[in-house]
Amino acid sequence: MEDSTYFKRSYITSTIRQRLHQKSFRERVLEAYSSQCAFCKLKHTELLDAAHIIPDADELGEPMVNNGLSLCKIHHAAFDSNIIGITPDYKIMVREDILLEKDGPMLRHGIQQLRDQKIILPKSKLLWPDQNRLEVKYNRFREVG
Ligand SMILES: [Zn+2]
Repeated sequence: MEDSTYFKRSYITSTIRQRLHQKSFRERVLEAYSSQCAFCKLKHTELLDAAHIIPDADELGEPMVNNGLSLCKIHHAAFDSNIIGITPDYKIMVREDILLEKDGPMLRHGIQQLRDQKIILPKSKLLWPDQNRLEVKYNRFREVG
């Protein structure tokens, strides 16, 4: 076997080993947020997702905890579809037209009343959402709303 092939192979093997030992994005994000929704504090893991701040497909969309948020299903969808936004200083914003709607408790308590509240942040500041990524996402939210 040629030396270069040998090194390439051992590199690949160690990369695979590292991956196997790494916790998934979901596990790391939920752990950072003590398994609760960063918007509404819901603690049922069956209803929680690890949401990306910047989507997977984007250049800045790495699966790091700083690019993640632990969100319940409804808040994940509301965040992805820019019904709810987060300012770079961690404040929750709700799209203007949604604030004017009248509907049942999910809209009122689950969405409208989140406005101006601060999101729940991980205990360790190292794991807090990256403010640059939040800004990129928040600008998209404002373009839509
Ligand atoms: Zn929630």
